[in-house]
Amino acid sequence: MDPTVDPSAESFVPVSPDSHFPIQNLPYGVFSPTPQDEPRAGVRIGDHVLDLAVIQNSGLLDSAGLPEGIFSYPVLNPFMELDRDQHRITRLLIHGLLRKDESTLRDDAVLRGRALLPVDSVTLQFPVGIPDYTDFYSSKEHATNVGIMFRGKDNALMPNWLHLPVGYHGRASSIILSGQPVIRPYGQTQPAEGEPPVFGPCRLMDFELEMGFFVGAGNAQGHPVGVNDADGHIFGLVLVNDWSARDIQKWEYQPLGPFNAKNFATSIAPWIVTLDALAPFRCDAPVQDPEPLDYLKESNRGTYDINLEVEITAEGQNEGLRVCESNFKHLYWTMAQQLAHHTSTGCNLNTGDMLASGTISGPEKGSYGSMLEITWRGTEPITLPGGGERKFLADGDTVTMSAWCQGDGYRVGFGEVASMILPARDPQGTET
Ligand code: CA
Repeated sequence: MDPTVDPSAESFVPVSPDSHFPIQNLPYGVFSPTPQDEPRAGVRIGDHVLDLAVIQNSGLLDSAGLPEGIFSYPVLNPFMELDRDQHRITRLLIHGLLRKDESTLRDDAVLRGRALLPVDSVTLQFPVGIPDYTDFYSSKEHATNVGIMFRGKDNALMPNWLHLPVGYHGRASSIILSGQPVIRPYGQTQPAEGEPPVFGPCRLMDFELEMGFFVGAGNAQGHPVGVNDADGHIFGLVLVNDWSARDIQKWEYQPLGPFNAKNFATSIAPWIVTLDALAPFRCDAPVQDPEPLDYLKESNRGTYDINLEVEITAEGQNEGLRVCESNFKHLYWTMAQQLAHHTSTGCNLNTGDMLASGTISGPEKGSYGSMLEITWRGTEPITLPGGGERKFLADGDTVTMSAWCQGDGYRVGFGEVASMILPARDPQGTET
């Protein structure tokens, strides 16, 4: 067994049983110890961050053979592009340093004071330079729900849907870190069928519960990645909220797909969980019927059992409403199939590219990953504690998503992605 995921391993750093960050996880992020310090890479353990720049400079990662200063950049990309064996050795060394029965860091008070910082005392930074962002549409339940709403039950899934992981090229520049507010966009919408369009604040503001993965080693243009080699190109996973303006989307999406409805903001959580940490939570993926074409056929098909939750909290309230409990394992198309399909033309993926799943809805009510489905296009409104009725999101609402794998007495989690919606700002300068 990989010792880094041994359920019995413990750290000398205190970790509560419901923490997302025990020694079995060790997710990567970027942070600044103080506002004056340069951002650098870190690993989360309990309520602390291990400063990898300090650890590497102290010589404690030398046996990994990493390039000098690789954790002293403001993004993780230089580390992400290394091959997976180097990621594994690094993880093993970090795991060793944090173990309860290893004295090197545990008993060195000076080094510990410099390298192990309370997460509340540091500033978390955006972790990755993201060259490109692709968003898929891989949940059969979500695609079916949306299809029923817009085209009726008999035509719910488009003819291509069961044969390929449908996706579109998203917008990397507007991906933001959890905690940063999202401004309600302005856009062009059609008030009613047959009427001329108007320009104004989005009225049907929505979230989409998604998970994304970051490309580690890229592929050269003209060199597709086979579906069974895809894992070697996945650095790790992140929790994603892909904000969506449904009224803008409805008017603009034909024939080339979403554009402004999706380009104003996508939020991510600060921690990237590696495939090595997720390995104990590997599980079966849905059986595919019809069988996919050969280039999408996996010799060892599988996915991960990751619990997902969404809560909405009205402005000024302490208590929110849990509106969704879903699971990553419901996704029909796996990350390997997404990556293989994306590169099957010879398209080159670069280190740091983010490929997101699409909204992850489960089979039953209560597991739907967007307001569009939860309120069934606004026909079944929900009521927020202290905030009144919602068909879609209101200004001041905070959407909080969390994700974790449940082990026996411990969790391997992704933390939270939480953002508040701010009122629209008129692009013509007159505030409404
Ligand atoms: Ca999406």
